[in-house]
Amino acid sequence: MQDDDKLSLDLVWQPDGHLTDIALTTLGDGEEAILPGGAAAHVARCQICSSALGRTALLSLRAGEMLRAHAAPSGAGEPAAPRAPLPIPAIAFALALSALGAAPSLVVGAGGLRERLAALWHACAVVVRTGCAVAGSGALSGWLTALPWLSAALLVVVGVGVAWTRGKQLTLNGGM
Ligand SMILES: [Zn+2]
Repeated sequence: MQDDDKLSLDLVWQPDGHLTDIALTTLGDGEEAILPGGAAAHVARCQICSSALGRTALLSLRAGEMLRAHAAPSGAGEPAAPRAPLPIPAIAFALALSALGAAPSLVVGAGGLRERLAALWHACAVVVRTGCAVAGSGALSGWLTALPWLSAALLVVVGVGVAWTRGKQLTLNGGM
């Protein structure tokens, strides 16, 4: 393992145990490979950092729009691009992290169905909150319609996980 390629810990972690803006921006840019292990896992577990990641994705979107506006020659014959491209990798990564964060508690948890449903609810809440932080900009208003689909997709994934875990338990019980 070569840690030379990774960011140093004091750049990644705040004194209070949460990730720095640098780390969140790195995650939002899809460059989690240069983060030390545990950073992505922390965002998955931590509501504060996962919603901060959503805000960071929003900020980089706005920064991109600003840069584009400055780069575009004013008064040019060609019309400006109507809409900046979405930071889809950042959003997808945030959503995937939310789902991944819920998965261990769903699969590993020895609790009953009620605990799993609570974890499922928590996962959906994180996803919706992250999605709203990103979508709340207004720049993404056209994409708001995608949120129910994302939530539904997450529900299906988690539901399959729950079904799989229950099926495994039934098999174990039946084998005894
Ligand atoms: Zn945190």
